[in-house]
Amino acid sequence: MGAVLHLETPCLRLPKARALVMLGPPGAGKGTQSRAVAGEFRIPDISTGEMLREAVREKTALGLEVKSVMEAGGLVPDELVSGMVEERTLRPDCARGFILDGFPRNLEQALFLDRMLQKQERDGALVVNIIADTDALLRRLTGREICPVCGSIYNVYLRPPQKPGFCDKDGAPLTRRNDDSQEVIRKRLKEYEAQTRPMLDHYREMALLHDVDGSQEPSAVTANIFRLVEG
Ligand code: AMP
Repeated sequence: MGAVLHLETPCLRLPKARALVMLGPPGAGKGTQSRAVAGEFRIPDISTGEMLREAVREKTALGLEVKSVMEAGGLVPDELVSGMVEERTLRPDCARGFILDGFPRNLEQALFLDRMLQKQERDGALVVNIIADTDALLRRLTGREICPVCGSIYNVYLRPPQKPGFCDKDGAPLTRRNDDSQEVIRKRLKEYEAQTRPMLDHYREMALLHDVDGSQEPSAVTANIFRLVEG
């Protein structure tokens, strides 16, 4: 029998085909961190918020159903989001693992995810909980600007683009999320406190939860997450 060559891709690997779950309140930096970690490990970054916003933009049946709830800062019904996550994680690009950004958001979704990972015969989940105080969250959310072309995230107070209002990478005019208004931010933070924070106990009890200090520079937060994943 000839020798079998195992060609490793020159990138970090998630130990086994695990799911990395990124938790934290709105504005904690889940999106920024998920993108950074996904790029390094070359696994998909699955943002339920982004998938739903795309459905709204494209006016699909799902988009029309969830538009008003999202605009008000509420949570979309569990079965819609869970079904979307299951379908997405069964695609071939998730074979080596994936990152979930924005899911689960309550205990029902967390229990769904447990069952889904078992069914998919994954090696469990690593759950990262990004912690930040309310003042920092408000500054991040009210100052957030996004490039609609490449998805880069800026902040007018904390990480302004070189030319105000335009992306450093591709020059596209930056946009704001329409749920980043004062009133909707308040509602989203309330939903987090009522539904998502209590869910953390589920992962704490399973000894899967790893707190990360989100008040540091984004690159320092990323470095901490890498250490967790590799450890
Ligand atoms: P995000 O981009 O994660 O801040 O999500 C934006 C909005 O999408 C939320 O305010 C919810 O309306 C909706 N959403 C995202 N993920 C979920 C989820 N797992 N469950 C319910 N609603 C969600």
